[in-house]
Amino acid sequence: MSTPLDLPGWRHVYSGKVRDLYVPDPAANADRMLVVASDRVSAFDHVLEPGIPGKGELLTTLSLWWFDQLAGADGGRSIPNHLVADHELSADDTVRELIPAEVIGRAMLVRSLQMYPIECVVRGYLTGSGWAEYQVSGTVCGIALPAGLGDGDRLPEPLYTPAYKAPMGEHDENISYERTVALVGADAAAALRDASLEIYRRAAALAERHGLILADTKFEFGADGHGTLTLADEVLTSDSSRYWDAAAWAAGTTPAERMASFDKQIVRDWLAAHWDKEGTPPPLPPEIVERTAARYRELLERLTAA
Ligand code: ATP
Ligand code: MG
Repeated sequence: MSTPLDLPGWRHVYSGKVRDLYVPDPAANADRMLVVASDRVSAFDHVLEPGIPGKGELLTTLSLWWFDQLAGADGGRSIPNHLVADHELSADDTVRELIPAEVIGRAMLVRSLQMYPIECVVRGYLTGSGWAEYQVSGTVCGIALPAGLGDGDRLPEPLYTPAYKAPMGEHDENISYERTVALVGADAAAALRDASLEIYRRAAALAERHGLILADTKFEFGADGHGTLTLADEVLTSDSSRYWDAAAWAAGTTPAERMASFDKQIVRDWLAAHWDKEGTPPPLPPEIVERTAARYRELLERLTAA
């Protein structure tokens, strides 16, 4: 794992697989945090070598764009998010000025929230671990589905399939809706589910207008000081979501043709073919790194094109 940066006015407190967190130092405005996205790439819960050049900036740009859409730019109701806005700062400050020059473009100034330990996954299409489970039991995360579905098929309804966010180094674990009630209480569990499904539907509709399928995605939420459910972390990025080309999906006949992806699938597929998931993963070859970077760039271009 890379060493944290020495950022004047900020103290490093945590490094996840992809992001590094800093808090103000000295601890004025202690409820604020700097989330810095690195170029690190992870798959199967391992951080891989080398990173994907420009990825931290692309993920941040994409998250900021989606937060803005979900705040109402897409025409829907405003979903509270963790970004600190200029108008919340004292008169002579701006968010841009508070972000150290070294990380500008790949850092977000956010409110530090009480995070729910739930990865709020929504699936509109069947693939990945969902497809693997369905082949064995006809279910996804225990939810029964109609027979006869194939890899990459659209689900009759988007499914909310939460996972327990395991502590660093452990694998996230799919859990039932009832387990989320036991973990966070009935009201919060229902609010997390309803917000996740709402955001998925809005985002999928917007992606569709840009010729993209949002196959599945994962959200993280926290509660702010008033207990308001607040969308946090990254949102609808190519790390947290599967995006496919809609035209290729409609025309394709094989799963590979249908799921022309703009996300980490390129990395997952290469790794699955070259590593038995024991010990340290092998380094990614330059052409996989470059193809992944190019697809991440293309996703941002396509989504944000007028
Ligand atoms: P892990 O934390 O298990 O390593 P990860 O690999 O997903 O998981 P990253 O995404 O790299 O971690 O790091 C981001 C971390 O910051 C996550 O633990 C996420 O829950 C947390 N986080 C994001 N937004 C906020 C926020 N507004 N307040 C508090 N924590 C946040
Ligand atoms: Mg994360």
